[in-house]
Amino acid sequence: MRAFPLAPGAAAAARRALADAEPAVFWTSQPGRPPVREPLNRVDRVCDLAIIGAGFTGLWAAIQVKEDNPSLDVVVLDQARVGDGASGRNGGFVSPSLTHGLHQGVAMWPEEIDLLQEMAAANFAGFQATLERYGINADFHLPGELTVSLSEHQDAAVREAYELHVEHGVPAELLTQEQAYARVRSPLYRGGILDPGVGLVDPARLAYGLAEAAESLGVTIHEHSKVVGFDDGGRGSGAVVVRTEQGSLLANRVVLGTGAWPVLSRTRLYVIPVYDHVLMTEPLTSEQLSSIGWEGREGLADAGNQFHYYRRTLDDRILFGGYDANYHFPGRIDPRFEQGESHTLLAEHFFSIFPQLQGLRFTHRWAGVIDTTSRFTPMFGKALGGKLAYAVGYTGLGVGSTRWGARVALDLALGQETERTRLTMVRRKPIPFPPEPVRGIGVRLTRSALAKEDATGHRNLWLRALDKIGIGFDS
Ligand SMILES: Cc1cc2nc3c(=O)[nH]c(=O)nc-3n(C[C@H](O)[C@H](O)[C@H](O)COP(=O)(O)OP(=O)(O)OC[C@H]3O[C@@H](n4cnc5c(N)ncnc54)[C@H](O)[C@@H]3O)c2cc1C
Repeated sequence: MRAFPLAPGAAAAARRALADAEPAVFWTSQPGRPPVREPLNRVDRVCDLAIIGAGFTGLWAAIQVKEDNPSLDVVVLDQARVGDGASGRNGGFVSPSLTHGLHQGVAMWPEEIDLLQEMAAANFAGFQATLERYGINADFHLPGELTVSLSEHQDAAVREAYELHVEHGVPAELLTQEQAYARVRSPLYRGGILDPGVGLVDPARLAYGLAEAAESLGVTIHEHSKVVGFDDGGRGSGAVVVRTEQGSLLANRVVLGTGAWPVLSRTRLYVIPVYDHVLMTEPLTSEQLSSIGWEGREGLADAGNQFHYYRRTLDDRILFGGYDANYHFPGRIDPRFEQGESHTLLAEHFFSIFPQLQGLRFTHRWAGVIDTTSRFTPMFGKALGGKLAYAVGYTGLGVGSTRWGARVALDLALGQETERTRLTMVRRKPIPFPPEPVRGIGVRLTRSALAKEDATGHRNLWLRALDKIGIGFDS
């Protein structure tokens, strides 16, 4: 059973197009990457707040805490470089949603959804205002997101999504097949829903810009500084020793934004690392561009369980990612998983969605790890006697919501009770994944059931059982 219809010639076009693609992240391989920052290689550094992870969560935490309390001494540590995690290798879709979409928010937190939507709008405005305030040029623009239907049952999903938007007063436009095709010329589109509130960004330049903004406020960032453990800071000190491979830091409070990497053993129960693959094409010629239309530069996604997301860059390349979501038993994270057959599958799908582009080549192929929870939204909590707070598990939708997640982690780390910390979404943990080997088997079963639903429109017993207990699998 094939869930995705391949166009004639797509397989051969995919092989040719991938022949010279560099196995590297497009965004972080572009010129303009800042020089490497010094590792933490001393043991006598003391600070008010240590932030672990220089992805969006860590960087937003650094900026927001310094804007509120300029006198705090803040140090950020990353095992690699700024933006080397998911933050510098994603699709760059900036969704205002804090709940992995309206549908998930309404399903999980019906009583809180209006407040969550209000917070989402304020966060999105704060996101844009920060970029302006610090002059961060990350190609942010607001073309909206068009979710297209590729099958009869996706037609129904798109219509339901539209109705939900209307019910909650969220702007959206339902497009017929002709209207969708008038925007972007794919023979596979059957209609779609346009959400005008979604932006696009160059994620690596966003990460670099946030890091520079944090440094302009007095934050110190150490790269290549892997945190390997925590110790009590000593009797009466109330502080934490953060140990890295080459040094250590005495911090009053710690914020952890380490995404899919399980720095705390307790988060392993709730967050699993799932690989998501991405391709980038060479810039399109004007003939290629006119063959596909897409003048509105909308972010695009299809409405299946296993979905593709794709977008134009400002220099007219196409980024194309998603579909496969690969979990490697028993939750391994390894650069070797970043290349593989998933890229071939993606390329075949690309030339089926746009058969008129056969002959176009891919210049970059890469993957990143998504920190997946069973409810698709981050989880928050405290450890080390309340001195450390974490925000992890954005499940593939964190470019915008990490700013808010960082804010929640700061509230928790600094012991502030706020409207955010009172939310059920913040107070309650997601349903944990079962331990291995059941976890790996469960993920495989779920993926195959989701693929079957994509092919047939039939949601089987297994998925319906998971729906009942409020568990899902997404990326
Ligand atoms: C391929 C891909 C496509 C995506 N597309 C989108 C999209 O289009 N839109 C969207 O909203 N979201 C998308 N996402 C998700 C989004 O990128 C993430 O939700 C977001 O970047 C999470 O940021 P973070 O800072 O929490 O985690 P990360 O960016 O992963 O940062 C965690 C950091 O912690 C560091 N770290 C880990 N362990 C240690 C340690 N022991 N010591 C020190 N440092 C450590 C890592 O090196 C890393 O830099 C995508 C993700 C992937 C992988």
